[in-house]
Amino acid sequence: MKTLPVDDVLHRFLLEGAGVRGVLVRLGPAWRDVAGRADYPPALRAVLGEALAASALLTGNIKLDGALSIELKSSGGLRLLFAECNDRGLVRGLARWNDPLPDPLQLHTLPDAIMAITIGNVERDQRYQGLVELAQARLGEVLEGYFSQSEQLPARIMLAADGEHAVGLMLQRMPDEGGRDAAQDQDGWNRVLHLTATLGTDELLASAPEQLLYRLYHDESVRLFEPHTLAFGCSCSRERVSAMLRSLGREEVEAALVAREEEIEVICEFCAQHYYFDRVDAEHLLSSGATAAVPRTHQ
Ligand SMILES: [Zn+2]
Repeated sequence: MKTLPVDDVLHRFLLEGAGVRGVLVRLGPAWRDVAGRADYPPALRAVLGEALAASALLTGNIKLDGALSIELKSSGGLRLLFAECNDRGLVRGLARWNDPLPDPLQLHTLPDAIMAITIGNVERDQRYQGLVELAQARLGEVLEGYFSQSEQLPARIMLAADGEHAVGLMLQRMPDEGGRDAAQDQDGWNRVLHLTATLGTDELLASAPEQLLYRLYHDESVRLFEPHTLAFGCSCSRERVSAMLRSLGREEVEAALVAREEEIEVICEFCAQHYYFDRVDAEHLLSSGATAAVPRTHQ
């Protein structure tokens, strides 16, 4: 019997008898790569980990072209939080904050907070964005509220993160496809919720995916699909940084050149990749402004 990886994986599964589909995401090294890039206060690190697990979780049941991101901004201590998973299973994320932060961070208490879920392809400018109301304290509850409004299919989302792992479990009642009456659907859904209610945060963080699904749903018929591998990875490129500089305009680019001995240095906040632009590069990117949608060239 082949052993399945237990970390940095996304599992889709079906609880066929109950009419429920699910996704389980468990991040280990990929999460530690993200978490280790700044000295995050534990309460913020927990929310960032939950958001990263959620960004992968939400890709589980959609046909993704590009990336799915969760972005949160507020005028309080938590200024920005960003988590993303792309169609190659690469995740990245970061947060910016001002001390002191409340512990635990309760999302519904953040001042002027907005959260957006963006799905799509940056290169082709095909993106869909949904704004999410922050009416609950925990990210999982917030996303459940989003699902009940946007998809009208109930979802249960559990998220947890510590310094080692970021884990998410999502259950959705499957769309009614005939042959099954509404009462039967409701019964199966309630049964699965009841089983899932026995799952605590510690167990969610500590268990390998297959063990966890077996422990929770061994009385149901579980169909487990081939896992997808996840990894830390960044989609930054010289082209994207050039486009960002171009969007700042000539004046700012000139000022940046003068400020640092005729060289602009841009460091990617997600992966710490350095990009350098001298005056010739700057002139080139500014003069190519009319063709902003240049195809990507890899070097
Ligand atoms: Zn990067």
